[in-house]
Amino acid sequence: MSRPAITGATVVAGVAGAPVRHSLSPILHNAWLAGAGIDGVYVAFAPPADRFAAFVEGLRGGAVRGLNVTLPFKEEALALADEASDLARAAGAANVLVFETDGRIRADNTDGFGLLQALAVQAPGFSPAAAPAVVLGAGGAARGAVAALLAAGAPEVRVVNRTRARAEAIAAALGLKVRAFGWEERDAAFGGAGALINATSLGLAGGQPLDLAIDALPPAAVVMDMVYKPLRTDLLGRAAASGRPAVDGLEMLIRQAMPSFEAFFGRPPPAEVDARALALAALRGAA
Ligand code: NDP
Repeated sequence: MSRPAITGATVVAGVAGAPVRHSLSPILHNAWLAGAGIDGVYVAFAPPADRFAAFVEGLRGGAVRGLNVTLPFKEEALALADEASDLARAAGAANVLVFETDGRIRADNTDGFGLLQALAVQAPGFSPAAAPAVVLGAGGAARGAVAALLAAGAPEVRVVNRTRARAEAIAAALGLKVRAFGWEERDAAFGGAGALINATSLGLAGGQPLDLAIDALPPAAVVMDMVYKPLRTDLLGRAAASGRPAVDGLEMLIRQAMPSFEAFFGRPPPAEVDARALALAALRGAA
């Protein structure tokens, strides 16, 4: 598969973050562009942290068609946009900016969509509306997950976080179906849950481990980890060993990229490109 030559008409989109050089997004989007034969290119931008706003302002009008946004710019991206989807507002963060030709900036958040799609693909028996869900963590990823689970009909979302006040802030922002728990209260939160989602940074290769007993979770509860380096985290290993369905963060990453691609290039990614195989190869290469 080779990409068409870059021309004067090539549409440019990209991802902005700091750091951004290990992002898998350019690999996915450029493979999709080549597969679809679209005259487009997707590149990575690392604006200095204090120049992100100026960078985005400079793109008004569509010199770049759109941006994915990653750490640490997701909250600022939402604030810079002229209009935002309900999910972006609920998440308090945007991972997609689209630059309209009239100068307006549209913000969306597809992380929650990616999460729900990953659950649907890797745990097809799971229904978000059937039982309470537990989200570990209270950062940006956790807040987006809570918003998406509520939008999908979750009867209750229990946010478990080391700093309980941050879990309480999510509950205050997102309504009565959200309950806050401290880390030491986690077993109580696990009771009767249909899903457990790790949205902390614990378990990331080279970082602090997530040493979490999941015995208090119902035996059929789905376990998902947003961390995807390593792909099979300790948490997912415990889920599989106990017979619980396990859903990985790489599937979420790939699924959030799909609506971004459509927003930038006007059509869904070509189904014949094996995005997961490409992402796995890139992760192996980076290891
Ligand atoms: P944040 O830095 O905003 O939040 C980190 C969370 O982890 C906080 O709740 C924090 O708790 C908790 N935490 C950190 N260290 C510890 C510790 N030692 N003990 C207990 N809790 C701890 O990160 P994000 O929300 O942006 O991202 C969270 C994870 O999700 C990251 O690993 C990120 O890579 C991943 N992610 C994956 C995506 C995917 O597509 N697969 C998409 C988006 C994110 P406290 O509040 O107490 O500090």
